[in-house]
Amino acid sequence: MPYDVIVIGAGPGGYVCAIRAAQLGMKVAVVEKLKTLGGTCLNIGCIPSKALLYASEMFAEAGHGLAPLGVVVDAPKLDLKTMMKHKDDTVAANVNGVAFLFNKNKIDWVTGEARIAAAGKVVVTGGDGKATTLEAKSIVIATGSDVARLPGVEIDETTIVSSTGALTLAKPPASLLVVGAGVIGLELGSVWARLGAKVTVVEFLDRILPGMDGEVAKQFQRILEKQGFKFHLGHKVANVAKTASGAKATIEPVAGGAPIALDADVVLVAIGRRPYTEGLGLEALGVATERGQVVIDAHFATNIPGIYAIGDVVRGPMLAHKAEDEGVALAEILAGQAGHVNYDAIPGVVYTSPEVASVGKTEEELKAAGIAYNVGKFPFTANGRARAMRHTEGFVKILADAATDRVLGAHIVGFGAGEMIHEAVVLMEFGGSAEDLARTCHAHPTMSEAVKEAAMAVAKRAIHV
Ligand SMILES: Cc1cc2nc3c(=O)[nH]c(=O)nc-3n(C[C@H](O)[C@H](O)[C@H](O)COP(=O)(O)OP(=O)(O)OC[C@H]3O[C@@H](n4cnc5c(N)ncnc54)[C@H](O)[C@@H]3O)c2cc1C
Repeated sequence: MPYDVIVIGAGPGGYVCAIRAAQLGMKVAVVEKLKTLGGTCLNIGCIPSKALLYASEMFAEAGHGLAPLGVVVDAPKLDLKTMMKHKDDTVAANVNGVAFLFNKNKIDWVTGEARIAAAGKVVVTGGDGKATTLEAKSIVIATGSDVARLPGVEIDETTIVSSTGALTLAKPPASLLVVGAGVIGLELGSVWARLGAKVTVVEFLDRILPGMDGEVAKQFQRILEKQGFKFHLGHKVANVAKTASGAKATIEPVAGGAPIALDADVVLVAIGRRPYTEGLGLEALGVATERGQVVIDAHFATNIPGIYAIGDVVRGPMLAHKAEDEGVALAEILAGQAGHVNYDAIPGVVYTSPEVASVGKTEEELKAAGIAYNVGKFPFTANGRARAMRHTEGFVKILADAATDRVLGAHIVGFGAGEMIHEAVVLMEFGGSAEDLARTCHAHPTMSEAVKEAAMAVAKRAIHV
């Protein structure tokens, strides 16, 4: 019997879409070429990186964060094997969790590589080379993304690594050169910096964290420099070659000038990710793509009836929660409901120490759009809880429409920013104003009081600064 839906790819977009579709009564199959479910996010992305970020943060805290609190720790020793086991166990618990949910929701999990032979027909080639044809009313492309490569630079995943290799290094490199000052480069750079590597970051643009609020990025860069990071902004990598002891990179100022040679034990190429559609047969089917992305309409439909796409393979930020929300919305649309994603309120978090979190518009975007806005800011140095925990770095910034006071963006650098940002996300979902946030009672003492104070600062009435 044909399926209602076949989802290709079991990442956060695909597996969530499948579960929601099954909840809504559809007969669902998911085709995944990896042996485990969860896609990039659970296997080689969000989850393993966060396991290593947490463990390495604890190592760094034990090394120099506890003495001022009167907790005396002898120089902590690194047991990288156990740290990696913590990461692997975390991944296993998560991917097995998805398998449990598939079972619970009676979703057929088909292992193999999928090709769309025609609308309604998916050919799956298993590890043994045998092909099976599955049929469905609707096909969802959720094939995600892959590492973007630097032309001429060969990734061997031991000396010249992508994010995948950077999650499994056998020992901390003495020196790590990170190409790309985006989220993944700074997160994995932080992991190895905490475990002893001297980290140098090369970035083509003249700033770190492209796309995030400029003031936030500047302050965050200063914080990372205090942690020992070195930055070469406005530089491009001309080449990277392996040497007897590691690798040598030649970088050049984008504006012109003398090249610089940099030696490193390990080079991490973290220049971004590209949509992945290889082997799907999209060209033969005539499915429209643009710069590698599958083109969709507001309801996730491609130009071929019955074929849909979600997640990293389509436009928008390459984030797991964006993919998940699209998965839910599409399943609901296929069930005749009004599934919807609000792209103006998708948070982004950098899980470093401190964290960086943002939602909505940056100051740069508001200026470019000619929207008049008011800014409210509050530093964590003036927050009691932050002082009590010695986490006073950073600030909260709220951007509100000058005419209506509606919150258009929120940006936080600080301990726990990735959790705090959600009160701004919920507020924005409900079209709330800075005054709404300012008049909402916040527990004392909490880091979140800084969010309230920043909202009060929009009307120049913050109390504690
Ligand atoms: C190191 C790293 C850290 C990250 N950290 C975060 C984070 O903290 N927060 C966050 O929001 N995002 C993070 N991301 C991004 C996040 O992983 C992606 O946005 C997310 O996984 C996208 O989900 P997806 O379902 O679109 O695709 P994917 O997760 O890429 O899943 C696609 C799946 O499709 C399968 N597939 C592809 N083609 C076929 C085929 N023809 N047949 C069968 N199967 C196929 C693939 O094997 C894969 O399992 C991180 C990424 C990396 C690399």
